[in-house]
Amino acid sequence: MKKEEIVMLCTTDLGGQTRGKGFPASDLADRLKKGIGWTPTNSMITAHGPIAPSPWGPFGDLVLIPDPDTRVRIDFGPDAAAEHFVMGDILHLDGTPWPVCPRGFLKRVLAAIEERHGLKVKAAFEHEFVYEAVEEKPNASYALDSFRRQGAFAERYLGALKEAGLVLDTFMPEYGPKQYEVTVGPAVGVAAADQAVAVREIARAVAHDLGSRVSFTPILRPDAVGNGVHVHFSLMDATTGAPVNHDPSHADGMSARAGSFVAGMLACLPAVTAVTAAASISYMRLTPNRWSAAYNNLGYRDREAGVRICPVFQTVDITKQFHFEFRAADAAASPYLVLGAMLAAGLHGLDSGLPIPSVCEGAPQNLSPERLRELDIVRLPQSLGEALDLFEADTVLAESFGAELKKAYLAHKRFEAEMMGQLSVEEQCARYAAAY
Ligand code: GLU
Ligand code: MG
Repeated sequence: MKKEEIVMLCTTDLGGQTRGKGFPASDLADRLKKGIGWTPTNSMITAHGPIAPSPWGPFGDLVLIPDPDTRVRIDFGPDAAAEHFVMGDILHLDGTPWPVCPRGFLKRVLAAIEERHGLKVKAAFEHEFVYEAVEEKPNASYALDSFRRQGAFAERYLGALKEAGLVLDTFMPEYGPKQYEVTVGPAVGVAAADQAVAVREIARAVAHDLGSRVSFTPILRPDAVGNGVHVHFSLMDATTGAPVNHDPSHADGMSARAGSFVAGMLACLPAVTAVTAAASISYMRLTPNRWSAAYNNLGYRDREAGVRICPVFQTVDITKQFHFEFRAADAAASPYLVLGAMLAAGLHGLDSGLPIPSVCEGAPQNLSPERLRELDIVRLPQSLGEALDLFEADTVLAESFGAELKKAYLAHKRFEAEMMGQLSVEEQCARYAAAY
């Protein structure tokens, strides 16, 4: 018997799960043109298995069309299957975009930013995760010993990322139990989110090959620090590619356009968390003193801000480095939805010409209610249900999302929140650790 390679054609869905269908690798050229059939109700399969009430039921047919630029192939040697997948867009059978497709949503938002404002977006995802094979020890953060104890994983992971065409920026032992962090990129537009999918799936594949697993769960246990996804982003001129974020004459260095963009993001952040922090347990992470994000504040050199102005090396061209970081996301959400939601909020800021926001000095939890009001700072929602209520009530992001995606997302996540509400926090953590 001769082994025959299989390619999985995938989408990363409303629950942030990468699902798809396989076909013989020898059919790749043909499948790039004709894709593979897909079912609307697949979008309602939750990360925990049960299917949320579906507006489509057993009806409807769609097609998943691959984007060859996203193809990942990693050779795990003669005795193991190759990891071979490609991401696709979900379309109607007539070739028009299906409005509920997360990748299609991100593309719509990117197109609107370019059409209305002549801007493109560059982004890099920083991921924290847990590697199960490593022993939990105290005082492990950034430790050379923690790096050593993950054994062959990191080197194989780097090799696999390279084989997939991704550029590793950094890999490190992080603060939390068994926690590591990986950053790749940056990339322009939808490719940044494609890369985030690849970062997660390649880590899973490499760990699997070593007989273990990684988990990108938002938080391992109630007493732990979370596994964040921090999205670094900047704006560039769509024609010249020149960065447009920095203005040395502004006190915090922000250009008017970047300021409007970030202001939109901050204004919409409480509703946006329903999409970027999409698990019930995401809200255990979004609390003060966990180095995540608990308020919709703009921070400078502040690792608990909702959005942070990142530090620059004064000795290197500042214009090229100056950028921002969105910290209220985790990997229970599809990277397409995370980036799409953040950018839809930024687009609102650009459309409305919002003024450059003020940096919040110090921790928001230590500011008086009056000062918080002056700065338009609010506490982020403290449960998935609360976040979904804000997202449902929001009218600003509604146009970018479109009614169908919004309705499907709310139905999916309300069902998940209710399901998780029956469990203790420890049980919820265990479910998410297994699912992500
Ligand atoms: N683990 C923190 C989080 O949940 C982030 C720590 C850091 O890298 O600043 O976002
Ligand atoms: Mg980190």
